[in-house]
Order: sequence, then C-alpha cells, then structure tokens
Amino acid sequence: MAEDIQKKIAFRLTRASLGIALMLGILVAFIQIAMDLRNEFKQIDNNAREIFLVVQNSAQRAVHLLDSRLATEVVKGLNNYRFLTYAAIKDDNNQIMAEYEIASDNYTSSTQWFTQLLTDRIAEYEFPLVNDDNVQEGSLVLNINSDRGLAPFYNRAITIFVSGLLRNMGMAIVLILIFHYMLTRPLTTISARLASIRPDQTEGRRVMHLSRHQNDELGNIVNSANVFISAIENWQGELSQREQQLRLILDASPNQIFAIDGNGEFIFVNNMTERFYRCSGEKLIGKSYIHLHKSINPEEAKSLNFCLKRLPKMKQGSFSVEQKLTDANDETHTMQISFIAFNMHGKNCILVVCVDITERVKAEERVEYLAFFDTLTGLPNRNMLYEYLKKDISRARRLNLYGALMFIDLDDFKRINDSMGHSAGDQLLIQLAKEIESNKRESDTLARLGGDEFVLCMPELHKDLDVAKQLAVDLAERLLANIRKPISIGNSEFIISASIGIILYPLEGDDLETLLSFADTAMYKAKQLGRNCYKVFEDSMADEAQSLLALESELRIAIKQKQFEVKLQPILDAKTGDLVSAEALIRWNHPEKGTVSPNDFISFLEQSGMVVDVDYFVLDRVCQFIKQQKAQGLFPKNLRISVNLSANTLHQHVFVSNVQAILNSHDIKGTSIEFEITERAALQRLNEVIDKARVLQLQGITFSLDDFGTGYSSLSYLKRLPVNKIKIDKSFIKDCVHDPQDDALVSSIIAIAKRLKLGVVAEGVETQEQVEWLNAHGSVYYQGYLGDRPLSLDKFHSKYLLPYKSMTLSS
Ligand code: C2E
Ligand code: CA
Ligand code: CA
Repeated sequence: MAEDIQKKIAFRLTRASLGIALMLGILVAFIQIAMDLRNEFKQIDNNAREIFLVVQNSAQRAVHLLDSRLATEVVKGLNNYRFLTYAAIKDDNNQIMAEYEIASDNYTSSTQWFTQLLTDRIAEYEFPLVNDDNVQEGSLVLNINSDRGLAPFYNRAITIFVSGLLRNMGMAIVLILIFHYMLTRPLTTISARLASIRPDQTEGRRVMHLSRHQNDELGNIVNSANVFISAIENWQGELSQREQQLRLILDASPNQIFAIDGNGEFIFVNNMTERFYRCSGEKLIGKSYIHLHKSINPEEAKSLNFCLKRLPKMKQGSFSVEQKLTDANDETHTMQISFIAFNMHGKNCILVVCVDITERVKAEERVEYLAFFDTLTGLPNRNMLYEYLKKDISRARRLNLYGALMFIDLDDFKRINDSMGHSAGDQLLIQLAKEIESNKRESDTLARLGGDEFVLCMPELHKDLDVAKQLAVDLAERLLANIRKPISIGNSEFIISASIGIILYPLEGDDLETLLSFADTAMYKAKQLGRNCYKVFEDSMADEAQSLLALESELRIAIKQKQFEVKLQPILDAKTGDLVSAEALIRWNHPEKGTVSPNDFISFLEQSGMVVDVDYFVLDRVCQFIKQQKAQGLFPKNLRISVNLSANTLHQHVFVSNVQAILNSHDIKGTSIEFEITERAALQRLNEVIDKARVLQLQGITFSLDDFGTGYSSLSYLKRLPVNKIKIDKSFIKDCVHDPQDDALVSSIIAIAKRLKLGVVAEGVETQEQVEWLNAHGSVYYQGYLGDRPLSLDKFHSKYLLPYKSMTLSS
C-alpha cells in the first residue's frame, strides 16, 4: 500500500516539491548567512578599530607619560564592551603597563562549537600607539571573544533560516495544491474513466471530457484516448468479421478440422467434426478427443492416441497417417489424418485435419481390381493368371511335381451372343464360370482371358507325369459333361459345349506365353476334331502351330503380292448338261509349294480376318473376267458366276456398298453374280444377313446356301433366308446312290427345295451314276469332277464361252 502511494504522481510531486523547497531554502539561507558572516567578521574588526579610536588618545597619553594609572583607567573603561575578553596597554618596550581581563572570558554559549569551526575562539588585535611625530610609543592589545562577537549574527541567521524555510515550504504546499487541483485530480479522473471502458466491450463508449479541460492538454489526452478506442473498435469489428469468415471456411470444409490442447481436449471444432461425432460444438469443447472416440471404437482411439503421443517427437512438428475412423453412425471411413503442432497463448496444442479418402481408396481398389479381375465373372483375368502361373511353375519345378493348364473355349458362343443378345451371352458366361468353378479343386485357379475363353490352372497334380495327365483328363471330361448341361436364361434354355486344350507343366525351358499358346494350340486341335472334346498337347502340335504362324506371314505376303488365282468350275444342268453357272474357287500359287488348296488356308484366313480381302479380290477378278467376256460378246445373258463369301465378309457393315462399288467399277450388273453363303454364316446374324441379301437381290444378285446338310439345316431358317438355291454338300452326294440314308436325305432335300421353289445344286458329282440318280429325283444342277475340275479363266473361256459364241452365231 505504502509502495502504491509512493508510486503516485501526487506523492512524488509532493516529495519533489518539498525536497526542492527545503534544499532551496537551505541553500539560499546558507548563502545569505555566509555573506552575513563575512560582514560580521568585518564588523568585529570595525568594532575593535572603533574601540581603539575611542581610547587612542587616552592610551597615547598614558604611554607617552608612562602613566600606569591612566593606562589602567583606560583599560578598565573598556569593561563595557562585553565581547572584549582582554585589553592591555604596552609601552615601547612591549611591557604591559595595564591590563584588564574580562570575566566574560569564561563565557560559554550554545553556538561556541560552531564559532570554533568558523574561526579562532579569540580574535587578537594590537594597535600601535603613535605620537605626533609618528613614533610608536606603545600599543593597545584587544582580545575579542569571536562567539560573543558573532552573537547578533547567530540571532539573525536563525531567523533567516527558519523564515526562508517556512516560506519555501509554504510555497511548495501551495504549488502542490495547485498541481493537485489542476493536474493530478483531473488525470486521476481521466484514468478512472478510461479504465471503466473494457477494450473488448467498447460498444460506442468513449471517455468523457472534464469540464473546463476540453481544449487543454488534458482535453488532448481524452481525444487521443477516444481515437485509440475507436481504432480498437474498428479493429475488433474487422477481427470478428475475419473470424466469422474463417469460421465459415472451416465449416464449409468437407474435412474434419479441430484443435486439441495439451490435455487432449477440444479447443475448437468445425461443422464436419460435429457431424462426424453427432455432437454440437459447445458440448465437444472441453471434451477429451481420445475418450470420445474410444466410446465409438477403442482400437481406433488407441492408434489415435499413439499418434498424439508421437507428434512431440517429430522434428518437423507435423505428420500424416492413413487410418480407418468410425463415425457416430457406425460408418467406417478411410481418413488421411494430419497432426500439426502449434502454440496458443504459450501452450502446446495440436491441430487435427481428417480428410475422408474413402471414395478415393475405393476407386484405387477398383482400379487395382480391374487390373487383375474380370468384371463380368469376377474371375482373375490374364494379368492375375500370369501371376499365379509364375508362382505355380516355379513351385512345380522346386517340388518336382506336375501341374496342368487347361484352355477352355466355348463352341459357337458367338452364335448365342449374336442371336440372343449380349446380356444373355453375359449371363451364360457367368453361369458357366460358376459351373467350372464348382468342378475344380480349391487350389486350382480359374481365369477368364476374355470373350468365351477360360483358363484353368491346376498346380501340383502329381509327381508322375502320366498320373498328372490322367487327373487333368478326368477333370476335362467332367467339365465337358457338366458344361453341356442345359442352362436356362430367362425363358430360354441353352445347351453349349466347349473345346479344351490341356498342357502339363513344367516343360523344358517353358515360359508363360509359350505354355498358354501350347494349351491354345491343343484347344484349337480339339475344335478341329469336331468340338465338344479335349485334346492334350503333343509336340507335333507345336510344329503345327509353328507352321500356322509361318502360314500367317506367308499369306500376308500372298495378299500383298497377289499370289492368288481364281479358277472357275462349271455347274451344269443334270438333264441337258448345259452350262448353268460357274463357281469361282480360289487357288494360291505359292512360290515354293506350288498350288495350295483353299482347304489349307481358308479357315486360317477366316480366323485372322484376312479372308475379307481375298473374297473381295475374287469378286473383283470375276467382275473383270465377266466384263472382258461381255466385251467380246462371249458371256451368256443368263450365266452367273458364283462367289463364295465367308462370314467375316458377309457381316461387314460396308459389305453391300463394297459389293456395289466393285460391280460399278467394272460396269457389271448383279444379274451375272451369285453369292454362296453357308448356313453358319447366315445364322450368326440372321436379320442383318436377310436385309443385306434383299438389297442385293433387288440389283439382280442371287444367293445360294452352300454346303447344305452340314449345318443346322433348320427348315424354319431356310424359309426365312432369302436364298434362291441350295447346294447339297458333296459328302451326301458321294454315297447317295448306294447309301439308303444319304439317298433318303438327299431326296427329301430335293423335295423340300422344290416345295420352297428353290434351285438345287448337287456338289461333288463324280460319276454318271450320280447324275442319273439325281435326274430320277427331280430337276437339279450338278457340279463336280464329272463335269469339270475348276479351270483357269483362260481354259474356262476357251472351253465354255467361245463355243457358246459359235453356238449363238450358228443358231
Ligand atoms: P466349296 O464352296 O464347297 O467348293 C467346292 C469344293 O468342292 C471345291 O474345293 C471344289 O474343288 C471341290 N469339288 C468340286 N467337284 C468335286 C468333286 O467331284 N469331288 C470332290 N472331292 N471335290 C470336288 P476347293 O476349291 O478346294 O475349295 C474348298 C473350299 O474352300 C470351298 O468349298 C469353299 O468353302 C472355300 N473356298 C474356295 N474359294 C473360296 C473363295 O474365294 N472365298 C471363300 N470364302 N471360300 C472359298
Ligand atoms: Ca461354294
Ligand atoms: Ca460347297
């Protein structure tokens, strides 16, 4: 308290004023007294001189006359001078003639000690006594008590000192009062008024001016304070606006953002955090983060706690983790959580930001899934299969065990896909995948390579190759039987078969690609063997596959270098033997192998899609030939040359326009052309083929159904297909004369064709007997070695067209 008072300006002012007044009083009094003292000393000297002057004549006379009595009278007469302590008159021999010791000599006073500080206690004077002739005849000795002499001075000095001090003190007190009323009190009031305004609650409040102090310095202080307050007010307004903005940003964030203090309790939370914990911010603040999360999921809380403890050890003051967090709705999210240390009011706090990356993680997993799994069946895809196989092969090597790889390809799946639509096809694939899965061992891996191709990987079958092979074969047989079980999709039932290629591994120096291609080769062989069967890979197949590869590149060259030749085989009227039409058949003039039969390369061309170019080439060559013959007038009006179409060509979108373009380029009408299509090709996309055929038929082109009897030979399709002719396959013609079954079949085909008003061509007629049999069953045309083998264009020209001209000329 005393200390507080000491700090107050009023107190300090009083202290300073009084101090200064005191000091000044003392100083001024001291100077006055000092000056007075000097005068007083002079006065003492003067007094001594005055005494001397008073007694000079008498003393002179006493020494001149050597009159001791007079001398004694003189000195005694000095008795009245109270400050004298001693007086004596000396003769010229310096002998004392008379002396007088004054009793006051033992005078003591309270100022004695001070006088002693200033001067000697006794001031001694000796005045010469000089006669008229200016000869010294003696001397007067006077001793003065300094203290006595200074007594008046002392009296004055006390007065001066006390009065000066009192005056100064009085002035100081007056000044203090003036200061108090004019400065200290107003200042105290101003500070009290200023203190009554809290900086965080200014709300338009200002410091009031003191009356009569508006325009002076105190008024200025109040003005400045008010300017300052309104600056604070503005600044606070801005601050709260900024805080609101910040809050808005925090609350708009899709991420959880919150801060916790050193005790792990929430300091602030954003909207997302409130939603996550389904708890208002007010309730959250002050709650322990870890405890709160513990109530939802203790395991997660444990690892969060671990993170919070880890943070202080991190040099960079922050780190991120990916963690699963469950919210108050019991929904689990994958979170990217960042912990950032910060300091607030000198305390260590942690800012936590949780970004929900659930969707991203899911998408990543999905991408990863897509890279390794087939989306339709959920089976591993080629990539995954390779991964499995790699491991299995090296394991098999290590353990000296044999495994097997099965290449499963559905037969005629394309037909179902095309006729029933893709979604039915997909359903079928899914069900078949399940079927195969249910037959395999648990350790086996079934993968889908795409389309209707599946691969079954059977690791560690047996250490004995033959036993392993038998196990694989057993499974293949079981699979074939089960795949053929009817499958119902919607209201329809499907029966589908598969062809399976099997290869056993490990082989000498095999890699994955080779292994798969060998299994594929074996599967292809199974297809060639009539489908719905399996084939175990044999080394000879590798050579075959090798030669197929070689064939592919050779065929590419053949197409580029036009190594193909078109031959024409006549089709004759069985009754008259007249030329009705001719079939264009392709030949490959191989530079080394000579002429290659289409049977050796057409199916390969079909697989690789190259057959399209070949078909158009044949059509083009045929049109060119017709044009040449027509130009010479050698081409009979009703003669047609038939061109074989593979399914690939027929199914091309641009097929019709391509045909028209080729015909137009040679200026040939459709009436000279016939297309041979197989049932299989037509049924693959029935409606599309019907539409295309109709368009071309309008231009005069006719269609014949090739190899009739080998396909489905469904009558209902036959009715819908806009064909003009059917060509009975040579396999039936071959034995129709002797084989009652073929006899019945061919004769009924001829009868049906007749009913449907379709022309009939018997293929592969080699004997006269066959012609006679045919004639006995109706009016048909025939094609075969009996008539002629396929002839070169020149040969055909000279043998069939030239005579025709001479015939028309002669007739
Ligand atoms: P295809 O359409 O059935 O042609 C008839 C096949 O029977 C021809 O074989 C022909 O030489 C053969 N042939 C004719 N008469 C007799 C006979 O009395 N006895 C026997 N055993 N065979 C006879 P080629 O020329 O070897 O053609 C085979 C197949 O190749 C053709 O069967 C056809 O499907 C296809 N082909 C031929 N040329 C082409 C073409 O330009 N394009 C397409 N896409 N396929 C063609
Ligand atoms: Ca044909
Ligand atoms: Ca044929």
